[in-house]
Amino acid sequence: MAGKRDYYEVLGVSRNATQDEIKKAYRKLARQYHPDLNPNNKEAEEKFKEISEAYQVLSDPEKRKIYDQFCHAGLSGSAGSDFGGFGGFSGFGGQRIDLEDIFEDIFDIFGGGRKSQRESKRTSYKREDGTDLYQTLTISLEDAYNGKTITTEVPRYVICDACGGTGVKAGSSERVCPTCGGRGEIYQNLGFIRMSQTCPTCKGEGVLREPCDVCAGRGLVIRKEEVKVRIPPGVDNGSKLRIPGKGHSGRFGGVPGDLWIIINVQPHYLFERKGDNLYIKVNLSVWEAISGTEIEVPHISGKTEKVKIKPGTQPGELIRIPGKGMPKLKTSGYGDFIVITNVVIPSEDELSKDAKKCLSKLKEDQKIQTRFEKPE
Ligand SMILES: [Zn+2]
Ligand SMILES: [Zn+2]
Repeated sequence: MAGKRDYYEVLGVSRNATQDEIKKAYRKLARQYHPDLNPNNKEAEEKFKEISEAYQVLSDPEKRKIYDQFCHAGLSGSAGSDFGGFGGFSGFGGQRIDLEDIFEDIFDIFGGGRKSQRESKRTSYKREDGTDLYQTLTISLEDAYNGKTITTEVPRYVICDACGGTGVKAGSSERVCPTCGGRGEIYQNLGFIRMSQTCPTCKGEGVLREPCDVCAGRGLVIRKEEVKVRIPPGVDNGSKLRIPGKGHSGRFGGVPGDLWIIINVQPHYLFERKGDNLYIKVNLSVWEAISGTEIEVPHISGKTEKVKIKPGTQPGELIRIPGKGMPKLKTSGYGDFIVITNVVIPSEDELSKDAKKCLSKLKEDQKIQTRFEKPE
């Protein structure tokens, strides 16, 4: 735990950041490092874990206050590791010297500051922003070249029509939670420490309501919705398209998340793409390679490109046609279309007697100038 970074530093916010600023910072970082968006990226995964942990603590006013105070007491290291809840306090056994200070801090939190904290907790429980949704769309290379508008079905949480998103059954009334007596928290005495816990009966709300039959009180129902996705020309494997507001709906007045479309481009049977460039291989006969020719080369656009093969073309030459590759996604223009030459050498039994006779003359005509070379 020694190398654990400060949670505020992890989220890149100041120590007196508001809950809103913390949430914003978290969402921004989570989008950047989400494992779904960074497949097989160990570093991003670690980073995501780190920011999630920081957010878990700093987004909860109680945990945040404790974190702030442990920092002052110089115990941030051991506190940070056990922050799943209040159960982690047993881990302080070795830190005798500061125990009293810490207990004072805890009582302070559970004592004076309790009421205002519970209220802020209740509102944050109620309002909940929708989370982002991720969907992979597989398209052909032709679609990636031309661009396309696709209608896709997205199962997402939307506001429940039956209760209008309130989660409460129409016509029913609230009653005070019998477990916590309306406090939203329950207390447990462990020795001389008093621990608080969110009330499991009312989930911290302090009141019980008759939940909506349709959404079971969630305020949201899952529904498949059709979403139109405009895929711009030039998208590549792993391209991310953001469709604002089309993620899960927020609860109780929270804003909806975004829908992220992750593009997967199917391999093409003829063309290979590298960045914005497009490659094709052309097989030439020995004669074509020796004397040169012009070839109609198929192109991803469905048209063909006339390509000049110069006399004396070698296998593995690259013939570059500028501006005829894939469209560039972020800027205007196109990559290059690159034709790779190959020369097919016939075997003896593919040749007629006459052809063999002619070719035997090559023996005298073609002299190898440089027999050995360093490979490229
Ligand atoms: Zn409902
Ligand atoms: Zn309760």
